[in-house]
Amino acid sequence: MTVIMDGKSCADKIIEKIKSEVVQYDKKPTLAVILIGNNHASSIYVANKQKKADYIGFNSILINLPYDVSENNLLEQIYKLNDNPDVNAILVQLPLPKTINQQKILEAIDPIKDVDCFTSYNFGWLALGYNPYVVPCTPKGIIRLTDEYKIDLEGKNIIVIGRSNIVGKPLSLLLEQRNATVTVAHSKTKNLTALSSSQDIVISAVGIPDFITTEYIKEGAVVIDVGINRTDKGITGDVKFDEVKDKASFITPVPKGIGPMTIAMLMENTLELFKIQHSFIN
Ligand code: NAD
Repeated sequence: MTVIMDGKSCADKIIEKIKSEVVQYDKKPTLAVILIGNNHASSIYVANKQKKADYIGFNSILINLPYDVSENNLLEQIYKLNDNPDVNAILVQLPLPKTINQQKILEAIDPIKDVDCFTSYNFGWLALGYNPYVVPCTPKGIIRLTDEYKIDLEGKNIIVIGRSNIVGKPLSLLLEQRNATVTVAHSKTKNLTALSSSQDIVISAVGIPDFITTEYIKEGAVVIDVGINRTDKGITGDVKFDEVKDKASFITPVPKGIGPMTIAMLMENTLELFKIQHSFIN
């Protein structure tokens, strides 16, 4: 019997735990989100994050800047948040307009407030196998969900399809730290079906609906679908769920899979940064 991995209920448990911890503190952790323009998908993601932060009892600040904001103006906003002792966590919602140098913007975030591990300081520590202040939300959420279902990662052959800086790349590093043997595939990978169908765990972060069919999956493999694709049929993942689920041992749905785990990890990271900044933990 295939197990459908319930990211929503796992995330809800984490949120409740954070909520009960937060009431103990005199100050509220504060998450600041910078959103550029009014991209529909980004606005929904940001609204969901704020809703969850409010529910937990965090302060949430939204800085919504116009699409044509200048790089200097955006940098100034980040410096202000860096200097504000009441702000514990800063998230710049991606993607940014093409006219803005993303690297320059993300590097401006104070690493101790870098809630999604965007800066080279934190990412570098992650790559070296040391502890960054916090690890990136989506990869962290994926690993947390596999832990919840007691899926042992050690020694497993895992393919991560997609090599972006926010999902594929950091995820491959974290999996390697858990002693998995990791293959990273991307748009130029040859013979992806053959490669993927030999793996114990397939993780797709491509952004193409129905991309992963049964041909990509070994009988009994674990299938993690990171994709969030807006289609005429609503939100779907990368995996052709209805057919792949019969071949997989464990599979995540979309929605209610990795999406809620990402938000839960954003909240957890905000709390962790708050605690680091107030010296509650080392
Ligand atoms: P991205 O566009 O930055 O990266 C996509 C990756 O897919 C690239 O590395 C590219 O090489 C690879 N790719 C594209 N076509 C391919 C092909 N034919 N074969 C193999 N690889 C191919 O995207 P991203 O930001 O990493 O996001 C990927 C997907 O995950 C999107 O659907 C996004 O919405 C979703 N996402 C979900 C969450 C979540 O919380 N569930 C978080 C972040 C991103």
